[in-house]
Amino acid sequence: MNTQSAYVHRSFDASIIPLPAGKLVCVGRNYADHIKELNNATPSEPLLFMKPNTSLCRMDEPIALPKGQGECHNELEVAVLIKQTLSKADVNTAHQGIWGLGLGLDLTLRDLQNQLKAKGLPWERAKSFDNACPVSAFLPIEQFANIQSVDFSLQINSQLRQKGNTSLMLYDIDSLLSEISQTFTLLPGDIVMTGTPKGVGPLVSGDKLHCRLNDALSITTSVM
Ligand code: ZN
Repeated sequence: MNTQSAYVHRSFDASIIPLPAGKLVCVGRNYADHIKELNNATPSEPLLFMKPNTSLCRMDEPIALPKGQGECHNELEVAVLIKQTLSKADVNTAHQGIWGLGLGLDLTLRDLQNQLKAKGLPWERAKSFDNACPVSAFLPIEQFANIQSVDFSLQINSQLRQKGNTSLMLYDIDSLLSEISQTFTLLPGDIVMTGTPKGVGPLVSGDKLHCRLNDALSITTSVM
């Protein structure tokens, strides 16, 4: 039996956000420093993949990693919560569809992903397993002066592992939502994961994580 709480979207003030827990659309290779660290090519258009809503869990509860499948890496990302349907949206419409921003961990079974990539196979087994996306509470978009100037960071056992700012994205948030909506309709309650900066690496049992978004969100959690 799953002992973790059923996932619902929550606001920074601990209230429940009345939007369903939808799909996650994730963007790969959206920060130049991370593309370099994994020796990947810079994409000519956003690289997209998805996680199902069964990947969602709370970031502030202990994180369970899959067992016996090699390294599971942290990828801390800015998570965008969608509040209205976006289909073939232009960038202005896309911006209007944002409820707010939070943080997500795009947990990745890196050894498995590398094997799948080498064979040209899809990544779902490495990225879309149950609880593969712990997310934080969300802050309403009104609380951000500029969503393209947001700091975020991850400390593991008091050591800085990842540090990013949304100004360093190759594709900005509104452009990503517009681009995604040309192919996949975004529904209220869906989340877009906007890519990770450098500093990905293996998580191990007992790790203590501290995630921050500007000075507004601060989440401490641990790996089971
Ligand atoms: Zn990612």
